Amino acid sequence: MSELASESTSHRLRAAPTERSEGEHVETLRARIAALMPTAREELSELVAIQSVADPRQFPPQECVRAAEWVADRFAGLGFDDVRLAETPDGSSAVIGSRPCGDRDAPTVLLYAHYDVQPPLGEEAWRTPPFRLAEVDGRWYGRGAADCKGNIVMHLTALRVVGHEVPVNLKVVVEGSEEQGTGGLEAFVPEHADLLRADAIVVADTGNAAVGHPGITVSLRGAVNLVVTVEALASELHSGIYGGAAPDALAALVAMLATLRDERGNTTVHGLRGAEVWTGAPYPPEQFRRDASVLDGVSLLGDGTVADMLWTRPAITIVGIDCPPVIGSATAIVPRARARLNLRIPPGVTPEHASAALVDHLHRVAPWQARVTVDVEASGQAFRAATDGPAYRAMAAAMQTAYGRPIVELGQGGSIPLCSVFATTYPRAEITLIGVEEPLTAIHAPNESVSPAEIADMALAEALFLQNYSKARA
Ligand SMILES: [Zn+2]
Repeated sequence: MSELASESTSHRLRAAPTERSEGEHVETLRARIAALMPTAREELSELVAIQSVADPRQFPPQECVRAAEWVADRFAGLGFDDVRLAETPDGSSAVIGSRPCGDRDAPTVLLYAHYDVQPPLGEEAWRTPPFRLAEVDGRWYGRGAADCKGNIVMHLTALRVVGHEVPVNLKVVVEGSEEQGTGGLEAFVPEHADLLRADAIVVADTGNAAVGHPGITVSLRGAVNLVVTVEALASELHSGIYGGAAPDALAALVAMLATLRDERGNTTVHGLRGAEVWTGAPYPPEQFRRDASVLDGVSLLGDGTVADMLWTRPAITIVGIDCPPVIGSATAIVPRARARLNLRIPPGVTPEHASAALVDHLHRVAPWQARVTVDVEASGQAFRAATDGPAYRAMAAAMQTAYGRPIVELGQGGSIPLCSVFATTYPRAEITLIGVEEPLTAIHAPNESVSPAEIADMALAEALFLQNYSKARA
């Protein structure tokens, strides 16, 4: 069923305002958003209180159902008449809905967020209870307060302030398993391509350079995960009787892993380039040291700038090693050891190329003809957003107006595999990554928080974008 056929939504297209009235218009919206912030806080409190970790081993699945229904109710209340929960192949439900503006020629904007959250990790590490929104020093704390429930509330606030006066057809998708990496929505999108088809896709799951410093994320790294296993002996051997001549699987693994970085910390996988330079906003090293809690006196890695190392170059992380733990270990040579590796890859490098290079590297550097097997677990594409289209221009202008300063281009070292799925499924759509997750939010960590000012300012930016995007296409 085409949502464009619906006549139910009343709308009024805004006449092009003059420059002076444009300024007044912005201030009117800003004041209305300020008046809506108690509602935004109430909504975020309700949403954070729902323990929507999409892992039934940790939290009851009913919590995710409650979160999905909460989101669906809110969008239904804003005129998304057909909103529903759509089951995706991993069993999670995505909230999907649309709100046509009545003009068949108007462009379509898809708003994205996710309602599931990361587990809270150690509750004792939280200064306030993770599932109760708490204000401390002007920030709102709670699991998901920024990632991504703060972005849901940002969307709701933007829609509330513009009312039905938007000359675009709107669609929404709020997924329920983003943090699990189980790919529910990624599998759903190509199977239901018409449902979410849009000219502009606003992925609200990133954030600004800092509070008050607007930025659009234009680059995401992809990733390859694999497990490398080294075997050299049939069983443990007494290290006194055999040590010195017997091949040591753990020593072999350690030697292999040591070849993945040079002495400066650059990732050195044979066949993977590692000298690209970031041309967007810099990431000051002092700020990075603070954001990353780097211990005093310990160096940052790599020959490039922080932004080069995070956003344009591959980065290997040893995320796990199976070998005897210290307590309980015997004075014995380890016959078999394995490690799990995570390789982040920049735009321009395919996961297929990267995983082939890493697998080949590991085989080449294995000492003593030790037996090496490598199992590639999963991989995700890197992503580079187009920055020459009307949606990017309209969003950049809207954010500049909302913040009173120009935007910067940001990268993100993590990946959002869905962006690549959107890009493949909708090759003509513009994908814009924005949101309230600035560096102080500590997403995925204990004591996650959001700045209410960012919710207000990003809601204003999104409202202006929705009002001005179709003009930017003209
Ligand atoms: Zn997120």
